[in-house]
Amino acid sequence: MERRLELTPVNEWGFFTLPKPMIIAGPCSAETEEQVMETAKGLSDLGIHVFRAGIWKPRTHPGSFEGVGVPGLKWMQKVKRELGMKICTEVACERHVFECIKHNVDMVWIGARTSANPFLMQEIADALQDTDIPVLVKNPVNPDIDLWIGALERLNRAGVHKLGVIHRGFSSNEKLKYRNAPGWNIAVEFRTRYPELPFFADPSHMGGSRDYILELSQRALDLGLDGLMIESHCNPSCALSDAAQQLTPAAVKDMLGKIVVRETYSESSDFKERLAQLRAQIDVLDENILYTLKQRMDVSRAIGQCKRENNVAIVQASRWDKVLESVISRGGEYGLSEDFVKAVFNAIHDASVAAQK
Ligand code: PEP
Ligand code: MN
Repeated sequence: MERRLELTPVNEWGFFTLPKPMIIAGPCSAETEEQVMETAKGLSDLGIHVFRAGIWKPRTHPGSFEGVGVPGLKWMQKVKRELGMKICTEVACERHVFECIKHNVDMVWIGARTSANPFLMQEIADALQDTDIPVLVKNPVNPDIDLWIGALERLNRAGVHKLGVIHRGFSSNEKLKYRNAPGWNIAVEFRTRYPELPFFADPSHMGGSRDYILELSQRALDLGLDGLMIESHCNPSCALSDAAQQLTPAAVKDMLGKIVVRETYSESSDFKERLAQLRAQIDVLDENILYTLKQRMDVSRAIGQCKRENNVAIVQASRWDKVLESVISRGGEYGLSEDFVKAVFNAIHDASVAAQK
């Protein structure tokens, strides 16, 4: 079932100046007044208008730096007063929301550990009732798109209409190059289901290292995301949290200068004609794929009948292993990746087994 959200368009929030991408930047954590002011000044000089800083930090181990709490909100208010920036921070419970309201925080975001928890989401939604504060919801730590949508629904039902999302990747037990698995397919699915929802990427938490921020930001924008949330610290190596992934404001400038922002559409008639031709080709190929799949299913059913008549089990694992091995190798010759071929043929096999029952 498609679940609708009632949204206020982002250009009515009074936050982001076009052109895209929309940028939110600032330290992982507010640490001292000086660090907050110096970082904010550096970012404001780049024309960035939305400042982030963590005030309450969800850390894996107790005893690590867990944020400065309410005094940090006073430093952020100074950023707002002196630099005219909008300020935003993470909230994880009712008390955080009330402190943010009291200190005129302009926007809040929900962290990945919190969006995974419906009780906390409900508590936060209730606390935000009757406010006009925009809320950005990070994806839950686990790749569960419904949990993510459910978090947005809870806020929406409480009357929060200025809603957006942040894709920061997913926890994984596998050893990856990045701190979190990007899971771009989930971001793309989300974008397709809710095209009007402002969609940010968080390349800092996804990558876990300064070295990957440019490539992940580029990828996010190439996939049509609207903005980036980037961690920036005036002296990253001394940061009290997430030191490896923060950029100085100067490095943010350098990174943004290297990003290629592609148009979502071009009015050029050559472009339109070429695109129409290529899309027509795709339509024909899709039709061929469907027809071939139909023929394949007919054969599968005939095989099912033949097995039934001879009292043979539907699945012979060794046969399927051989088929997979062969299509992966043939696919490789066509330049198709192993993961892609495996995913397609496993889906075909599942449907085919179901049809033989
Ligand atoms: C953060 O943005 O500082 C943060 C804690 O992120 P996440 O919830 O994505 O881990
Ligand atoms: Mn962080």
